[in-house]
Amino acid sequence: MGPRHAAKQRSERHVGVLKVLPPPLAEVVPPKLFTVSGAVKAQECVLAGVLASDSSISGAERLAPVPKARLGTVLHRLVEDSAKGKIQGTGDVGANVSHHFDVLLKDAEVELSQSEYATMVPLRASVGEITFRNRVRDAKQRALEVLNRSLPRPPHAASSAPTSGGLPRNASELWLESGELRLRGRTDLLSIDGSRVLIEDFKTGDVDVEDASPQLVLYALLAVAQRPGSSVEIAVLGGTRKKLSAEDLAAARASLKSKTDQASSGAATLAEHLASPGSMCRHCDFRHRCRAYQTWAVSTWANPSAERKEPLDTWGVVLRIERPHVQWVTIRIRDDAGREVDLVKIDASLSGVQQLSVGARFYAFGVAAAASSRDAGGLLVHPRAFRELGNGDMQRAWPSFFVGTGA
Ligand code: SF4
Repeated sequence: MGPRHAAKQRSERHVGVLKVLPPPLAEVVPPKLFTVSGAVKAQECVLAGVLASDSSISGAERLAPVPKARLGTVLHRLVEDSAKGKIQGTGDVGANVSHHFDVLLKDAEVELSQSEYATMVPLRASVGEITFRNRVRDAKQRALEVLNRSLPRPPHAASSAPTSGGLPRNASELWLESGELRLRGRTDLLSIDGSRVLIEDFKTGDVDVEDASPQLVLYALLAVAQRPGSSVEIAVLGGTRKKLSAEDLAAARASLKSKTDQASSGAATLAEHLASPGSMCRHCDFRHRCRAYQTWAVSTWANPSAERKEPLDTWGVVLRIERPHVQWVTIRIRDDAGREVDLVKIDASLSGVQQLSVGARFYAFGVAAAASSRDAGGLLVHPRAFRELGNGDMQRAWPSFFVGTGA
């Protein structure tokens, strides 16, 4: 299929469905154990940490994913599969890795094509050809590094000869948990040499140990809980190592406890009591269900400031709908801060947008700014114009749209 045909096919697909906004989350029941990724989030917002640790919440209950992140998942999976011994074939090792990546990418794209996110295919279009090639090359290199390490493959890893501390000497994909820490997680790579434990992460892309440190330090706490007295180093695969001091571990433990103590295990808790709206909300896929975020966001929109923390979301009452082009509509709303805001270049193939009427409540999460967001004095303001489409897939946003039930 040529690129022009692919682009035409993308434009003919439905971008998504204009859904009814679900009600805000009133209560949550904090888990017995936080996941490592949930505990990292809890450092900034305990509610986000609780939600990230709850495996019963499906992807459909969250805001739409973005294709760059979906591509990142495919790349990470390539390195994971390498560690699991799943990369096989009759060709040379490099060819086997390349073939395995092609299969993973195809599977991800087929799955997307059959969902409401079909326009995210091909995933390479979301980052551009050069970035795509560089990221794939980097991930393949890491997959080869992992293959060359001759790691034990799960499930054998878990049954490798344990050390006196109860951890195997070398393991990939090893689950660790501690009731005392209220934490569980799966390390990418763990190896033991004497009294030293090394924990490595499979991050792909331009990520160093400092970037990965918040989660690696938590894995270190889990390892030390099972093997007290160990000295611990952390690293991103192929990168420099960082030795954690006893003070580093004590500080991480205290910080973790201060957050998990706020969310009593199994006790129904008001969601708003655990929420801490702020810059973390930009990365939270539960904004459409979070009353604390929505109240905070509206209170900031009308205030110019030197720094803006809120995500590029907007909502309010529809004032006008126009269709200036066959491929897009524009919608003017009065946002909940009382400002007139334009949503331009909203994909006309969004299912349900043609039925949207004046007076309805309209919500857009994850749009792009369409105009300067500075006021006359040079301070930053929440934009008054947003867009969905751009010039090509690399420049478009991947928002989630909803209609509200009340006026
Ligand atoms: S939207 Fe913000 S306040 Fe609400 S759970 Fe997410 S990070 Fe926390």
